[in-house]
Amino acid sequence: MTIADRFAPAACPRLVVKIGSALLVDPAGAIRRDWLAGIVADVAERVRAGQQVAIVSSGAIALGARRLGLAKGGRASLEDAQAAAATGQIGLSHAWAELLHAEGLTAAQMLVTLDDLEDRRRYLNASATLDRLLALGVVPVINENDSVATEEIRFGDNDRLAARIAQASGAQGVILLSDIDGLYTANPQRDPAATLVPVVEEIDARIRAMADGGSASGMGSGGMVSKLAAAKIAQTGGAHLAIVSGKRDRPLSAFVADGRGTLFVARPSTSARKAWLAGRLTARGWIVVDPGAVEALRQGASLLAAGARRVEGAFARGDVIEIADEGGGPIARGLSEYDAADARRIAGRRNDAQAELLGYAPRAALVHRDHLVLL
Ligand code: GLU
Repeated sequence: MTIADRFAPAACPRLVVKIGSALLVDPAGAIRRDWLAGIVADVAERVRAGQQVAIVSSGAIALGARRLGLAKGGRASLEDAQAAAATGQIGLSHAWAELLHAEGLTAAQMLVTLDDLEDRRRYLNASATLDRLLALGVVPVINENDSVATEEIRFGDNDRLAARIAQASGAQGVILLSDIDGLYTANPQRDPAATLVPVVEEIDARIRAMADGGSASGMGSGGMVSKLAAAKIAQTGGAHLAIVSGKRDRPLSAFVADGRGTLFVARPSTSARKAWLAGRLTARGWIVVDPGAVEALRQGASLLAAGARRVEGAFARGDVIEIADEGGGPIARGLSEYDAADARRIAGRRNDAQAELLGYAPRAALVHRDHLVLL
């Protein structure tokens, strides 16, 4: 058994495959058509074997930059990136549609922004569309809607987008095809002694220390840090994620043949709503809690005001907030029962002291365990 078996049609009825810019677009800025035909043949084989496959495709900015003659691969400014994305996306979709069609498959395009997936209602909409498309046997080709996304509200990298799409579509697996064949113990370009890590159960400080920022090719915006962030989202959502080399023809077949890559093992899945909560990228504020509360949260308890040390940010009741330990490490995420001002008022106080401070009967917790997910 290799790690590729986890992504076989029987084990993984729904799969998301993410393809990095450097694989799709050559250094001169043209689509690598032969390579693309190869991955499409791989996808077609899987669809024929009964697997539903969604593709998250980068490359719009890299491709558009060349057509427009923009410097720095179109990433010199946000306006350049938006113009490059708008120009490149049309060519990218065309190539996907044509090659999928040649394999007898129907392509569909979805362009999404961060907000589309952070807002619960819009997330459910996107999720329903994906579900319908996949059930119809269509291959959705997804990218960030970079032409309207602004710096503050962007994914910016398609690694996390792919993990989020896996959650939204209820996929059991995500394969990130990259210009590197997995996570190494150190950056292999700088440290020749670095070795590939085949399996990661838990992304802890040791694993995080292995990754450094930036995209090796300089074409995409990914790099190992965003891949680890994606892996965490996938794991928490109950999906396996693999980082696999795309630098070969028919990369999915090659993965099946040699099983090479890094597998991030899925955690037992939580409810869909909690998975959405865990995968959110933005929070309106955070609460720092004492060690006793950290322990209680890990045992499945609600967050009580007594365990809160500090309340940061401006949030309203019902907003998503993060819960951190005293070292600042994120522990959990949840929906606040109070707005920030009231949360600050009762932080560190026991239940019997709260009514007087608030002027109304307190709720049972700052964050109820039904609206809370451990990270
Ligand atoms: N959405 C970007 C594009 O299509 C790519 C983001 C990334 O590099 O991950 O060009």
